[in-house]
Amino acid sequence: MRLPVVGELNLAAKLLGLFGLAVTAVALLALLLPFARMQALIDAGQRETARALYEAWSMLPADENAPRPEAIGDAAVLSLDIPALRVGSREDWRLAEILRRAEDPRRNEQGEAISEVFLNDWQDWAKRYTYARIARDGNGRATRVVVLERTSEQAASEAAINSLFLLSAGVLVLAVAMTTFWIITGRLILRPVKKLRLWAESVGDGNIDERVELTTGDEFQQLAETFNATLDQLEERERTLQSINIAMDVRLNELAEVNEALDNAARLKSEFLAGVSHELRTPLNSIIGFAELLLDIARKEAKQSHQAPENAERARADHAAALAKRTRYLENIVEGSRGLLELIEGLLEMARIEAGKSEINRELLNPVDACRGMIGLAEPLAGRNGVTLELDARPEVPLIETDPRKFQQIVFNLVTNAIKFTGPEGSDGKPGRVLVRVERVPGESGTPRVRVCVIDNGPGIAPEDQQAIFDRFSQLESGHQRRHGGVGLGLAICRDLSSLLQAELQLVSEAGQGAMFSVLFPLRLDDSQIEQTRLEARFRGALNRQGG
Ligand code: ADP
Repeated sequence: MRLPVVGELNLAAKLLGLFGLAVTAVALLALLLPFARMQALIDAGQRETARALYEAWSMLPADENAPRPEAIGDAAVLSLDIPALRVGSREDWRLAEILRRAEDPRRNEQGEAISEVFLNDWQDWAKRYTYARIARDGNGRATRVVVLERTSEQAASEAAINSLFLLSAGVLVLAVAMTTFWIITGRLILRPVKKLRLWAESVGDGNIDERVELTTGDEFQQLAETFNATLDQLEERERTLQSINIAMDVRLNELAEVNEALDNAARLKSEFLAGVSHELRTPLNSIIGFAELLLDIARKEAKQSHQAPENAERARADHAAALAKRTRYLENIVEGSRGLLELIEGLLEMARIEAGKSEINRELLNPVDACRGMIGLAEPLAGRNGVTLELDARPEVPLIETDPRKFQQIVFNLVTNAIKFTGPEGSDGKPGRVLVRVERVPGESGTPRVRVCVIDNGPGIAPEDQQAIFDRFSQLESGHQRRHGGVGLGLAICRDLSSLLQAELQLVSEAGQGAMFSVLFPLRLDDSQIEQTRLEARFRGALNRQGG
């Protein structure tokens, strides 16, 4: 962008033009006085010469027969009485002027009338000087006039040379003044102004982070500093506005997300309820179905006990068969009830965590003892599934500050999962085996932690499924897992409980290679993180509800 030049002239041209005019006027005025004085000096010299010639002429003897000559030196002499002067004055302005002065009645301080007239004018390229001497009678009346006329080319050329000198002096003064002025204004005014102009154009083009550097130590520097400070403020304000805008964008996005979440909430809630009620109905139907069968058997037995047995042998066989059936049905009822309880407990735990209401009851815990306890609890399940369950407690495992119930819940979930999914024969062809290892490990930043690993030789989990299994109600769709029941909440709960306990849950596995779930517990809980984690859990809960 170029700044418009006002009135077609830029500042430099205007300054130079105006200053040039001013200097010319001053030089003319200054030279006028010496010029006039010079002219006056030349004229005075000429008057003196004319006067001397007149004096010489008047001293010449004269009488009626031999009048004085009509020339002396280079001057022509004309002696006129007043009537002759009057006649001559009609044709010659000089004679008219001489007559006017001769008849002028004024007197000087000494009471003398005008006796001398000196006139000069140009005659082609020469100067003509006219000198008149007026003779008066006793009453002061003019009687006669002697006029001397000289023409001097030398006086004219002297005047011309003097004028030329004066003119040259004027031009020289003008040139020096203009050059000095140009250099001074260029340095002091035009250069900083040009710098400011270029900078203003650049800022106008959008380079607002550019600053102008002026070290003139005068008002221009102050101006530049003021401009820079103003730009700094502008930039600061722009930054603030930008960050406010970004914050508003983020807020708007959050609001849009919350809006979307609310929109989805009703639909997701009904979907969630439908899913959960399906999971509830399956074990309940099984419990009711088998309980009814048991009831049937009980009624039949009651009926038979009222009839006299004709064949005791057959009755005993029937009774044995009925007992076997009853045991199977009761087992089914117990299994269904356990599943139901597991589901309800899982849902309650999940709801507590997501509502941010899961309290942390810190205690000092011996991780090895706690794991041993959980292994004891899982032993019956391991026995039923034909899995060997072992504890590998490494030396020097320290006590940890944590919530013991949540710690045990995590370990128990991982151990029961490993037992359920491994079964009597491992994927390596060896008998099913689950190992719980407890050890002290150095943390990333050097702070030690306690790691609990649950290692099995079961079917393993393919890398692409490893993310999904931590989602709620997520189960892998292969046959053996469906066979083991469960509702897909265990690992989601483990993940949330681990983050509440500031622990890290990791999985290392390959399909067909067994699995290793490990949890890294800190030795101490960080107070500042507890509230943060609870908020995060609540936030994740909201997201989960969005995603179903
Ligand atoms: P549930 O056990 O009720 O199915 P979880 O959330 O505990 O739910 O587990 C989710 C899924 O992760 C399981 O259905 C199973 O497919 C997979 N899984 C969990 N633990 C193991 C394991 N040790 N080996 C192989 N698969 C596992």
